[in-house]
Amino acid sequence: PVNPRSGEVPVVPQGISRDDFLQALEELKQELGGENVEVNDKPLRDGWYMEHPNTHDMMTILDEEEFVAGAVVYPGSTEDVVKIVKWANRWLVPVFPISMGRNLGYGGAAPRVRGSVTIDLGRRMNKILDINPQDYTCLVEPGVSFYGLYEELGKRGLREHMWVDTPDLGGGSIIGNTVDRGVGYTPYGDHWACHSGLEVVLPTGEVIRTGMGALTEGGENTWGVFPYGFGPYSDGIFSQSNFGIVTKMGMTLMPNPGGHEGFMYTFPNEEDLGPLMEIIRPLRIATILENVAQLRHVTQSIAASGLPKSKFYSGTGTIPPDLIHAAAAQTPVGDHTWAYYGMSYGPPHIRAHKLALIDSEFRKIPGCRKIDPSTLPEDEYFWSRDRIASGTPDIHELRWVNWAPNGAHIAFSPVSPIRGPDATKLFQLGKRIHERYGIDFMPAFCVGLREMHLIVEIVFDRDDAEEKGRALGCLRDMVDEAAREGYGEYRTHLVLMDQVAGTYGWNDGALGRFNERLKDALDPNGILAPGRCGIWGRRYRGRGWEM
Ligand code: ADP
Repeated sequence: PVNPRSGEVPVVPQGISRDDFLQALEELKQELGGENVEVNDKPLRDGWYMEHPNTHDMMTILDEEEFVAGAVVYPGSTEDVVKIVKWANRWLVPVFPISMGRNLGYGGAAPRVRGSVTIDLGRRMNKILDINPQDYTCLVEPGVSFYGLYEELGKRGLREHMWVDTPDLGGGSIIGNTVDRGVGYTPYGDHWACHSGLEVVLPTGEVIRTGMGALTEGGENTWGVFPYGFGPYSDGIFSQSNFGIVTKMGMTLMPNPGGHEGFMYTFPNEEDLGPLMEIIRPLRIATILENVAQLRHVTQSIAASGLPKSKFYSGTGTIPPDLIHAAAAQTPVGDHTWAYYGMSYGPPHIRAHKLALIDSEFRKIPGCRKIDPSTLPEDEYFWSRDRIASGTPDIHELRWVNWAPNGAHIAFSPVSPIRGPDATKLFQLGKRIHERYGIDFMPAFCVGLREMHLIVEIVFDRDDAEEKGRALGCLRDMVDEAAREGYGEYRTHLVLMDQVAGTYGWNDGALGRFNERLKDALDPNGILAPGRCGIWGRRYRGRGWEM
């Protein structure tokens, strides 16, 4: 949809007058070139995933005008980024960096503070600066997407040599996803753990390099192969924060393991979840289960067909389980409650050993079925998981957004140990709260190594305020109730950042105060992404900005 603007445009950020804001933007045009500064005074176009807006959250759960940019600027180099932050400090304008802005479900391209000037790094800073086939590393700028790197490996004839680890949707930025600590599904799925060395523009305009890139001369030589450099390891403070703008990042790539084989098992009952987790944990920690594995609930499998809910159910409230199971029975996979998607790597004789172990363990769950992939049609969701877990970007995952008309989604993503009682408790908690709000429950457990993220995506109609209100209520209750049981989010949407940061309140909020001290030291004017991850600079604190 294209939404006409309500209220005065452009939205002027707090702390500066309209005239000064427009004058400041004119000044920035002088520095960057007029074509690289765009005032956001047009109707808000939602587009779709591959043609997403950079002015707002195309999947907003609030009014679209809430998290909206006042202007968007396009730096072409690290020097341009320095000019922009110096400008922001002169005029006290909040700026919000994005790499590509495809952070769907967590806020998309939107800034946390209304009227911020979005720094769209990806549009012009999109070079792959290095691919090293000997070391299996690369060095990228913010505009390099998982698709982009995959294509470049193809062009250089390196796709058989090394793989890109890609998240569920491959159109996002490698840097954007990594600094937000997103995950993928090969053994290199923990993107943050796989990165090596950053170049960062600090909020006051200094440029630093971390890790080996910090060497006075020749840092490029070992930038991608050793992440730590010398002295305190500072990279962590530039992830899920607002302490700096990442302009370059080293990333490690996975060698082609010499073969791979996707596999799928289904399990009949909701109650199988607990015993299944007890089976998965030792196999995963021993890396017999080698990749970030997914255990998905059947409601999500049905939604992943891409058909709207109305095809299955015309009543109100949540879809009755018997209808979901009837629909599942019609699919090539058949009726079940849980589906496990995994991948085994290596040549056939190596795989055979691991797959046999997995098979004998999984079959301890009564009614377990192994699905033969050769029976599945090409557009079955299984093949999307198969591609992603073997280094090929994909966007099939978007299909379940069709569940609701004008579908959008937002995630609840707590961390849990891989234990039966925890999985069951979290599942019951989510189910109970979804029922409270009349929302279909679509959980997926993503098993990292020693922990799992439960990812619950709520699909809602972005044009239905009442439905959005229920979705937000459901999320807020889940965050609070899960936190009381010892489960915290690994990542969250802009709208929930203050709440989630509040759940990490041990010792009277000591970590939050520590973050504020860093913020004030690094960003004395509080211009960089105020409020991101619940961190507010001095100028904003105690003024009612938290939500
Ligand atoms: P993607 O396009 O990969 O989904 P985004 O560009 O939307 O990722 O980035 C996700 C979030 O991470 C952004 O909203 C922003 O807050 C932060 N971020 C992204 N890129 C950078 C960067 N280069 N420097 C600092 N923060 C960033």
